[in-house]
Amino acid sequence: MTQRKAFPIQLDSLSSNQPKAKAPVSAQRPLPVTAVPRPVGVGLDSLAMRNRMVQKLAASGIQDAHVLKAMGAVERHQFVETGLVNQAYEDTSLPIGLGQTISKPNVVARMIELLRNGSAGPLGRVLEVGTGCGYQAAVLSHIATEVYSIERLKGLHEKARDNLRSFRLRNLHLLFGDGMAGFAKGAPYAAIIAAAGGDSIPQAWLDQLALGGRLVAPIVTMTGHQALVVVDKTAQGFTQQVLEAVHFVPLKSGIS
Ligand code: SAH
Repeated sequence: MTQRKAFPIQLDSLSSNQPKAKAPVSAQRPLPVTAVPRPVGVGLDSLAMRNRMVQKLAASGIQDAHVLKAMGAVERHQFVETGLVNQAYEDTSLPIGLGQTISKPNVVARMIELLRNGSAGPLGRVLEVGTGCGYQAAVLSHIATEVYSIERLKGLHEKARDNLRSFRLRNLHLLFGDGMAGFAKGAPYAAIIAAAGGDSIPQAWLDQLALGGRLVAPIVTMTGHQALVVVDKTAQGFTQQVLEAVHFVPLKSGIS
């Protein structure tokens, strides 16, 4: 079983009023910083940071309560390198190894809000292309009945599996493969989300989207820059909206 990362941030002003609960096991291990290990309220501190992150997301325009709740629930600090844990709740992308990055919380929330499109309940089956460290997959598992997440880099697929093990998300399925081909066995999908940007939307994604389903992906537009694209599959065909500029790692074919 993977060891959960300690969360070294201490919010004295916030934690001083907290009841002195028995420290969780993870807090009793040596901290990865030079500070003298203290049994601080690890869970409480990271919860406070997440709550603050959620407030900022709401202030920046994220309105979907399901999305805000999911963003508040997933411990982003469990998905970043130990040395970056103190930046885990900042609105920044961070390196996750093999030249890839974990997306900014704001971008994750924005894309999932677009995916949900204001639906009342959870989404059905969702396909994520680009598992990376597994963070967004974990958030998706809170807003969908079933999540298939595919990664082309074996090292990251395995890292995500390790990161996610202790969360025990039974509705999340991690796959190793080229996501440009989608994952036909899980289709049709109520929603498809890509965490890497190509020049166009692969035909397989359009084919595997359910009627009434929605796809959100970064695509390189005619200006040579990436933008978020939303595609809806309707009985009359596909509709497409090109939204704001974004900066994602490239969508690549093949596995490695
Ligand atoms: N959602 C991720 C973001 C990871 S960055 C997170 O929360 O960490 C995007 C990822 O897409 C990278 O890991 C990259 O390897 C992966 N990727 C790029 N092209 C891909 C493809 N064709 N199939 C599957 N994954 C791909």
